[in-house]
Amino acid sequence: MGTATKDIRQPKPLPAPNSDFYGVTETLNAEELATLNQVREFMNTKVAPIINKYWAEDAFPFELLPPFKELNIGGLAMKGYGCRGGSVALFGFVAMEMARIDASIATFFGVHNGLAMGSIYLGGSEEQKQRWLPPMHAGEKIGCFGLTEPDAGSDPGSMRTTAKRDGSDWILNGAKMWITNGSIADVAIVWARTDGGDINGFLVEKDMPGFEAPLMHHKLSLRASVTSELVLRDVRVPEENRFPEISTLRGPLSCLNEARFGIVFGVVGSARTCLETALDYSKERIVFDKPIAGYQLTQQKLAEMALEVNRGALVALHLGRMKDEGTLRPEQVSMGKMGNVRGALEVARSARSILGGNGITLEYPVIRHMNNLETVLTYEGTHEVHTLSVGKALTGENAFR
Ligand SMILES: Cc1cc2nc3c(=O)[nH]c(=O)nc-3n(C[C@H](O)[C@H](O)[C@H](O)COP(=O)(O)OP(=O)(O)OC[C@H]3O[C@@H](n4cnc5c(N)ncnc54)[C@H](O)[C@@H]3O)c2cc1C
Repeated sequence: MGTATKDIRQPKPLPAPNSDFYGVTETLNAEELATLNQVREFMNTKVAPIINKYWAEDAFPFELLPPFKELNIGGLAMKGYGCRGGSVALFGFVAMEMARIDASIATFFGVHNGLAMGSIYLGGSEEQKQRWLPPMHAGEKIGCFGLTEPDAGSDPGSMRTTAKRDGSDWILNGAKMWITNGSIADVAIVWARTDGGDINGFLVEKDMPGFEAPLMHHKLSLRASVTSELVLRDVRVPEENRFPEISTLRGPLSCLNEARFGIVFGVVGSARTCLETALDYSKERIVFDKPIAGYQLTQQKLAEMALEVNRGALVALHLGRMKDEGTLRPEQVSMGKMGNVRGALEVARSARSILGGNGITLEYPVIRHMNNLETVLTYEGTHEVHTLSVGKALTGENAFR
C-alpha cells in the first residue's frame, strides 16, 4: 500500500465478517484505502472518546476542528482549487466511516463539503470558486446551506426569503430554519426569491450587517451537530456574491442531489455500529443460563440486521460508482436514500431491543444512532418526498400536489 497506516481491510476492533460481509471496502484502491484509514483513525481516536459527552451536552465539539483540518479531505471529490479530486465513491465511504461513530459529525462534514462547497463548485462564478473553495478545502472557512424556512420545507418553492435589487447590490430579507453549521459558518449559501420570481443563490458572509445565525436548542437527535436559524434583516449583498447562472429551484435541488447520495453511505455506517454492538452484547448477555446469541429469535434479528447493513452497503457502492461514471439519476438516489435510511432505522431498533434496558442508555451507542437516524429520515428530502420521486419516475404521474 505504500503507507504506514494500518490496512482497513483488517480493521480492529470491528468483528469481521459480520459488518462487511460482501467486502465492499475491498473495491477501493490502495490510495483510497489509505485515506479511509486516516479518517477511521481520526474517528476512533479523536471523536469516539468524546462524542457521548458532547451529544449529552447538546454541544458541537469545536476541539475537533484543528485535527479535522489535518485530514485534508475538504472538497474530497472536487477537482482544482486545492481539492484532492478523489472519487465520489470515496467521499461516500468517508461519510460512512464518520457516521459509524456519529451522524452529527458526518452531517457537519456532509453539509460543509457536499452542500456548501458543492453549491459553490456547481453554481459559483470563477471568482467565487477561487475565493472560497481553497480555504473551505483547508477547513479554514466553514460553510452552510440555507434552503429550508419555517413555512417551506418539503416545498421549497414556497420560500418567503426575498432578494431585492438595489443598484449593484441585493437586499435580503427573511428567515431560514434547521440550518446545519449555521452558527459556525463563515459563509452561508442563502436561497432567495427575486422580484421577478427567480430563485437565486447568495453567498452571505457571517459579518454582513443584518445577518444573524442563532443556535436552535432542545434537539433530541444529532445533538453534537450545530443547527441554526438564519435571520436576514435588510442584509446588503453585492452582486459578486450571487451565483451567476442559477435562476430556478432546479439550482438548489441539483446541489442537494449532488450531496445527498452521501447519506446513502452514511446510514450504513450508523447501522453497522448498531449491528456490531448488538452482536457483541448478545454473546455476553446470559439469560436463562445461556447467551442470548444462542436463541433463534436473537439470531433471526442479527441475520436480518446483517442483511440490511450489507444490502445497504452494496446499494451505496453501486450508486457511488454510477455517480463517478456520471450516469446516476435523481430518482435512483431517492430510492437509495429511502431504502438505506429505512433499513438503518430497522437495524437500530432491533439492536436496541437486543440490548434490553441497556439499549436506552448512552453507555452503548445504539440509542444515539437511532435518534440521529430520525433526522436523517427527514433531512435532504423526507422519506415521503423521495417516495413520491420514485413514484413519479415509475408512473410518469406527479403526485406531489
Ligand atoms: C437536524 C436537521 C438539520 C437540517 N439541516 C438542514 C440544512 O443544513 N439546510 C437546509 O436547508 N435544511 C436543513 N434541514 C431541513 C430539512 O431538510 C427539512 O426538515 C425537510 O426538508 C422537511 O421539511 P419540514 O421539516 O418543513 O417538514 P414538512 O415539509 O412540513 O413535512 C412534514 C411531513 O409532511 C410530509 N409531506 C410533505 N409533502 C408531502 C406530500 N406532497 N405528500 C405526502 N406527504 C408530504 C413530509 O414527508 C413530512 O412527513 C435540516 C433538518 C433537521 C431536522
